[in-house]
Amino acid sequence: MLKILVADDSDTIRTMVSFKLKSCGYEVVTVEDGLEVINNVESINPDLIMLDVSMPNMNGFEVASRLRASPTTQNIPIIFLTAMADTEDVLKGLGFGAIDYITKPFKPEILVAKVCNHLNMIKSRKEITQTNEQLKQENKGLEEKAVTDGLTGLYNHNFIIERLSQEIARCNRYKANCLSIFMFDLDHFKAINDNYGHLVGDEVLVRVSAEIKRLLREVDILGRYGGEEFLVLLPDTSLENACVAAEKIRERVATLNWSAETLKVALSGGVCAFNGEDAIELIKKTDILLYLAKRNGRNRIEC
Ligand code: GH3
Ligand code: MG
Ligand code: MG
Repeated sequence: MLKILVADDSDTIRTMVSFKLKSCGYEVVTVEDGLEVINNVESINPDLIMLDVSMPNMNGFEVASRLRASPTTQNIPIIFLTAMADTEDVLKGLGFGAIDYITKPFKPEILVAKVCNHLNMIKSRKEITQTNEQLKQENKGLEEKAVTDGLTGLYNHNFIIERLSQEIARCNRYKANCLSIFMFDLDHFKAINDNYGHLVGDEVLVRVSAEIKRLLREVDILGRYGGEEFLVLLPDTSLENACVAAEKIRERVATLNWSAETLKVALSGGVCAFNGEDAIELIKKTDILLYLAKRNGRNRIEC
């Protein structure tokens, strides 16, 4: 229901305007003075303010000027309802951006018809704003979903590859030591699924993802490459430093405690520094190192 705030020091006007507008289905709040508008406008949050000009403590022009000066109230539509009918006053009122200036005495039916027209406009504008806001939120959600892995919340395969290509493009413009990548795969993960069930397997993927994310720097980019394979992009990181980071991650995962006491989780990984190759070549090189780590006994990193 649209809400109208009526400010007028005349009891008769307040009662009459309020009665007429309420009978049209609007919610009406009345106040006797301009200062009351300023003090209560944020809590009342009206869709429209009808303002008398001459009021004891603060006149309507001053109210309009203050409403326009505050970001929270500057867009509330104002209609002046006043006995001050000089051209100068009307222009002053409209100068505050008032959507109408109605002079007293007025015909109640005409006042109601005008206010209804204005409120219909206000209502459709409000609906459009709400729809736009809703669409913006939905788009944001969809954009996020398109780049996110549903289980772990990390970046998904497509996005991490895209980011790798972007990082490589960035490196080609700058110099060495510009990017290292770390690819890892959980050891004997099939056996974890087979022995503890797929739900426990999923839990392991989620927790390992979260633990690793916490160990990385904010600028590092972690994605789920495939089932139990992950890719970390470490911008501006030398091979040596990337290996230190990878080793820290390997150790953390290997020493995690799990609710199933016999459960052991470990990972094997490969680390490579960018050296002029494209994304596919760099991943291939790192994958070879990852498989070397598997062959060399697992729960280890090859650089
Ligand atoms: P290795 O040490 O050589 O890597 O052995 P592994 O058992 O980890 O490797 P393998 O490729 O044989 O098995 C990977 C398993 O990961 C099989 C697959 O079902 C499981 N997996 C892949 N994605 C998910 C997932 O989202 N949830 C669960 N629970 N399991 C998954
Ligand atoms: Mg594996
Ligand atoms: Mg695998």
